[in-house]
Amino acid sequence: MKLPVCPHCHTVYRYGEVRRLLFHREATCYHCQKRFQVKKTRCLLLLLIWAVVCIAVNILSLVWIGNITLIGIFITNVILAVLAILLTPFFIRFTANEQR
Ligand SMILES: [Zn+2]
Repeated sequence: MKLPVCPHCHTVYRYGEVRRLLFHREATCYHCQKRFQVKKTRCLLLLLIWAVVCIAVNILSLVWIGNITLIGIFITNVILAVLAILLTPFFIRFTANEQR
């Protein structure tokens, strides 16, 4: 699990910078000024693992905390959703444009 690098000059992008580029299809490298594509890795296995983790956490919170309220379950799921959003920059890859 690592943050993306520029395909041209291999500049490592920081977390905040990746977040900023998250909703762009293309971006220009601040270091070498070359353009590259921003791609999300859509790994089905990762989604599946995440779904299993979410379900497991829900079941475990029900088992361990016997008198958990609906609000408790809701908060747990909100935390899981926020965590998923926070982890997205680690699944972003920068690729060089094909046309040169
Ligand atoms: Zn670069």
